[in-house]
Amino acid sequence: MKFQRPGAILSTQESDWKLATSRVTHLGIGAHPDDVEFMAYHGIEECFGAKEKTFGAVICTDGSAPPRSGPLSAMSQEEIRRLRQREQLAAAGVGRYGLTIMLDYPSSTAKDPSDKSLDEDLLKILEATRPEVLYTHNPADKHSTHVAVVARVLRVLREMEPHKRPRTLLGCEGWRNLDWVSDEKKEVLDTGGREHLASALSACFDSQISGGKRYDLAVLGRRRANATFLDSHSVDETSMATFALDLTRLMNDHSLTLQDFIDDLVDGMKARIHKELEPWM
Ligand SMILES: [Zn+2]
Repeated sequence: MKFQRPGAILSTQESDWKLATSRVTHLGIGAHPDDVEFMAYHGIEECFGAKEKTFGAVICTDGSAPPRSGPLSAMSQEEIRRLRQREQLAAAGVGRYGLTIMLDYPSSTAKDPSDKSLDEDLLKILEATRPEVLYTHNPADKHSTHVAVVARVLRVLREMEPHKRPRTLLGCEGWRNLDWVSDEKKEVLDTGGREHLASALSACFDSQISGGKRYDLAVLGRRRANATFLDSHSVDETSMATFALDLTRLMNDHSLTLQDFIDDLVDGMKARIHKELEPWM
């Protein structure tokens, strides 16, 4: 499978890429190395050790410009790029992914709406894998590269014939959680089945964590808080939960804009809070 960037890589334990792509049932498309493990962990856990399910990971950017501190401060951009590639491939081994694709785009290119090269790669991957469930960033994320990736994923899916699109498209928590979305409008994904696996995956990304960001503790803490604060009237059904937005309607309804989709969620939460306050005014 050929991609636009010369440094793009495809890694699989299968004998060839065609077999690898045909086996993928759950696909995560993230902006940076480590995004898939943090936001799409539900899919990794779902497929781990399952006979009929296989997880695939797609990373859009080269990740060469993270915060320059800790072990990264003395490294060149190229050395950081290669280290983050190694970390991502190590995570793929730990998580037993069937397929890992690193598309190697500079962040600036990924964020340029007029550049269509990343769209072409994503279309190729989505046509070859045809996943049942697709995980990506959510459109209310506060990281511009994450927003660029979900916007591109939607743009590409809308170009595809409807029967080739995934059954479910989920936009997951990253740089902004989804606690603010009304409960009836958010998807609650149980991610508490193998906490040790989640920890082992996080630990693969030492360059990010030692660099001064405790993503390992923050992500697991968020999942635990999600599970506990979801419902004040019942005991916790799971120890960990990831929240997501169901973007399937957005994929299939071309007239629905990302802004209108988000406005509906914001208005829903506003109405809930007002209703709670109303009797006291
Ligand atoms: Zn990211």
